[in-house]
Amino acid sequence: MLVYLNGNLVPKEDARVSVFDHGYLYGDGIYETLRAYDGMLFLADKHLLRLKSSADAISLNLPLPLEHIGKALLDTISANKLGDAYVRIQVSRGTGEIGLDPALCPAPTMVIIAKPFTAYPAGYYERGVSVAIVKTRRNHPLALNPSIKGTNFLNNILAKIESIRAGAYEAIMLNWEGYVAEGTISNIFLVKAGVLYTPHLRTGILEGVTRGLLLELAGKESIETREAPILPRDLYEADECFITNTTIEVMPVSTVDGRPVGKGTPGPVTSVLRRAYQDEVRRCLKTKSS
Ligand code: PLP
Repeated sequence: MLVYLNGNLVPKEDARVSVFDHGYLYGDGIYETLRAYDGMLFLADKHLLRLKSSADAISLNLPLPLEHIGKALLDTISANKLGDAYVRIQVSRGTGEIGLDPALCPAPTMVIIAKPFTAYPAGYYERGVSVAIVKTRRNHPLALNPSIKGTNFLNNILAKIESIRAGAYEAIMLNWEGYVAEGTISNIFLVKAGVLYTPHLRTGILEGVTRGLLLELAGKESIETREAPILPRDLYEADECFITNTTIEVMPVSTVDGRPVGKGTPGPVTSVLRRAYQDEVRRCLKTKSS
């Protein structure tokens, strides 16, 4: 496996970053996870724009213009001869003396890891997964805005630990006011009486690329959508529920805190949207190859 490290493609074993990197010392960095289908990076422009907006939000200068970063992503995929791939790009503050001042780090560290995509078990999609509403609250946007895709993941990890203890696949965090925010690595949707609901961005969540596409696709499928405040009881009383992200795409949720969602099996709106997502991937692949 070849890893992109600051402009070079190096064997995995040689892809080393200093212990003085502020990404390691302080979790001072940003990242994106992308998916390649048959070598095509899906929604790359959207991920690159979010990388830039995360960088701006933490006053980090990206080491390359976005077009060059896009090329570096593709180069890493082809250097590893990958078709269906998981791709992670991470930019940390860089190596510098101990201390919080970003000026201590003269240059950021940019890493791209591309590896073969391992599909999630089919049963997760056929039967749905469990989620638990955890006690750990999502970061307050005025403390550490969840709209920044930062490498500082302790908030999410604390939530994940709770969900593991509860035997649930994903943890759902509430925001500071007790409204449903998001999962540790996913956005959440529910369906009630045929209407698709998802927490509003004002709730304090990451603006998921998949979330954005799903809202668009739902519109095209004539499914009414609402970005709205959602309470835990709305999740308990939902007809359907699913989580989204770049790698899981659309994953049905069968139980919330052990209570079955609807009939406890993936519902029709979830299935329509999952299919619409896959059709969109195929459409993009076709457009690219023609
Ligand atoms: N919310 C959080 C906290 C995440 O970490 C992620 C993805 O990793 C998402 C939502 C979904 O984002 P996307 O659809 O862009 O992958």
